[in-house]
Amino acid sequence: MKLGTKLIHAGVEPDPSTGAIMTPIFQTSTYVQKAPGDHKGYEYARTQNPTRDALQNALAAIENGTHGICFGSGLAATDAVIKLLEPGDEVIASSDLYGGTYRIFTKVFARYGIKFHFADLQDANNLRRHVNDRTKMIWVETPTNPLLNIIDIAACAAVARERNILLAVDNTFASPYLQNPLDLGADIVVHSATKYLGGHSDVVHGAVIVKNDALAQQLAFIQNSCGAVPGPQDCFLVLRGLKTLHVRMQRHCENGEAVAHFLRQHPKVGKVFWCGFEDHPNHAVAKKQMRGFGGMISFTLKDDSMDAALKVLSGTKLFSLAESLGGVESLIGHPASMTHASIPREERMKNGLVDSLIRLSVGIEDAEDLINDLKEAIG
Ligand SMILES: *Cc1c(COP(=O)(O)O)cnc(C)c1O
Repeated sequence: MKLGTKLIHAGVEPDPSTGAIMTPIFQTSTYVQKAPGDHKGYEYARTQNPTRDALQNALAAIENGTHGICFGSGLAATDAVIKLLEPGDEVIASSDLYGGTYRIFTKVFARYGIKFHFADLQDANNLRRHVNDRTKMIWVETPTNPLLNIIDIAACAAVARERNILLAVDNTFASPYLQNPLDLGADIVVHSATKYLGGHSDVVHGAVIVKNDALAQQLAFIQNSCGAVPGPQDCFLVLRGLKTLHVRMQRHCENGEAVAHFLRQHPKVGKVFWCGFEDHPNHAVAKKQMRGFGGMISFTLKDDSMDAALKVLSGTKLFSLAESLGGVESLIGHPASMTHASIPREERMKNGLVDSLIRLSVGIEDAEDLINDLKEAIG
């Protein structure tokens, strides 16, 4: 089955009790048993919920995995993945990470004795400088946030396999429409379903997808034991979002391309970061592992002052100034003061995250209107 068909049908059966074509929102905390232990596979809703099951099965199918495990947010999904590790274990992570991921690694899990190394993984050979006997996981985000660098997943998977290390890929930015990390050799896929999967900026949700029974069992154990589960209404919203993922992503890609080319020829714009440009340093890798280039774009202004950036940020009318991404509506953001404020300035500057950097999540409105909006704001 191809992706568009899977997005609409995978994991979802008409409700057996009524024939409802859409999986109902099973808003219940518990399930009646006939006699102790005599039940229909559902005992308590932290452990199992039919709405969540439908979504988990759909997510497993669209990422070409065998198991989906859902959480209350993307960071709760990340939290569960790191809980696979033990004190003394080490993780090598790509240096240009979602700010909240950097925060949970360095401010939460480092306190529990897990060691994180951050490396520029655009060259997968950089992994070898940090690998040792305690290395248990490689954590990759690609395209990276907010600089849209591309990391070669298959090249990282080769190093991981050689040393028996788990490779986890945060696939939030690409979505399964553009890229399937499990097919490229990753062991674990993480999503903030808050973004493209949900797609309508109306839910916070996270998911982990794997293709290995033992890993799935451990993650389901963590899901139930730690309890960061999503509610059934949120699962319903993500399930509904999935049904149009392919149609939305197609338009995100078209609009992204139009906006990226507009920005690039604008005399006041400095650098434009978008992996679809042929001269993007990792364009060849992007072409190899992705089926399109998406709607995430970052750019700097030639006037590299904070003031110039702030003028653009507050000057757009269609692009709303807000954190987050991946919704149908276009958003504009300022990584240095918003999404990445939790990364120390020194660390940010080292990674090229300058104060004037502006990030766009290009929505699915009409491209001409979006370009006119940016034209007005940039001046
Ligand atoms: C938003 C985001 C997260 C965190 O997800 P939440 O749903 O906000 O907890 C993780 N990774 C990436 C790439 C994100 O954009």
